[in-house]
Amino acid sequence: MSTNELKVRYCKQAPATLRRWIDAHPHIVAEFDVGEGYCSGRVDGFAYDILLRPGWRMHDDFVHTLIEPTVDQMLSQLRSVVQCDCDQCRELINRINGK
Ligand SMILES: [Zn+2]
Repeated sequence: MSTNELKVRYCKQAPATLRRWIDAHPHIVAEFDVGEGYCSGRVDGFAYDILLRPGWRMHDDFVHTLIEPTVDQMLSQLRSVVQCDCDQCRELINRINGK
């Protein structure tokens, strides 16, 4: 699959700074949403949600969805994602490749 076939799905509008990073890394981000972050720590529960593509995860955990209450925190999470070859990712990648 070539990178220009990859399209990020925006469920909600992303702040410009975040959108710039995401659009530059469509091979990493699958989906952007804004919702209620159960662990954002904010009283109103607001958080940005990003679903990573198969093959990527958080740097310090086997988590494939990033939930952060601020643009800065989300950017720092995004900048530290690492490649992932867990069973779940491998299965999804095989499915995408039609194996
Ligand atoms: Zn994984």
